[in-house]
Amino acid sequence: MSVVEVRDVRRTYPTSPPVHALLGVDLTVAAGERTAILGQSGSGKSTLLNVLGLLDEPTSGTYRLLGEDTAGYDGAARDRLRSRALGFVFQESHVLGHRTVAENVLLKLVAAAVPRSERAPLVADVLHRVGLDHRADALGRLLSGGEKQRLAVARAVVTQPRLLLADEPTGNLDDGNAATVLDLFDEQARAGVAVVVITHDPRTASWADRTVRLVDGRIEPGVEA
Ligand code: ADP
Ligand code: MG
Repeated sequence: MSVVEVRDVRRTYPTSPPVHALLGVDLTVAAGERTAILGQSGSGKSTLLNVLGLLDEPTSGTYRLLGEDTAGYDGAARDRLRSRALGFVFQESHVLGHRTVAENVLLKLVAAAVPRSERAPLVADVLHRVGLDHRADALGRLLSGGEKQRLAVARAVVTQPRLLLADEPTGNLDDGNAATVLDLFDEQARAGVAVVVITHDPRTASWADRTVRLVDGRIEPGVEA
């Protein structure tokens, strides 16, 4: 079973005039696969990521996540599937500046309804894996850019997602921190997580197992298998 199965997905924004952001996208992503999505600004990358992340619904077509057809899921069912199966990393990491590093991670576990007794060991383990254990008690706003992004990865993976979605996760990082973030994504892929990354960054495109290019709401033919 594939983690992601997108079939003929279209997304039209009902503006005036309407914007046809996705025009029939097919995409399959297997467990453990690292996919980079490339494309010019306005080609539909964020729209596709929002569909994959259950933040937006296709206008038509089907999206199966972990074998479940997500059509017709109400908000609560989407929220449940999102917090059970998905992790997100964005270019501007969503770190809570007035909370400590450990609290930032802990709050993700609270939101995902992880039982209280399981939380502390999960926080300690993930902070160790991203190399932030020595910063556990520091306030989020005091972290460097690279540390913030590692914390964002920790928040995304602590709930053990099956699909990790990232929008320009290395865009603002120097080479060393970009490599660290990609190493963390590798660790996820080796554990069987499907990793889908939107990027303009050649470092990230060459890291992926395959690249998919969006052109005007369609996947460029001949590139996507
Ligand atoms: P990318 O991420 O590749 O830059 P987007 O998916 O953000 O592309 O946008 C694709 C197209 O859809 C663009 O023409 C954009 O202006 C339009 N668009 C994106 N979001 C909305 C929205 N909420 N309402 C109307 N049009 C939108
Ligand atoms: Mg975008």
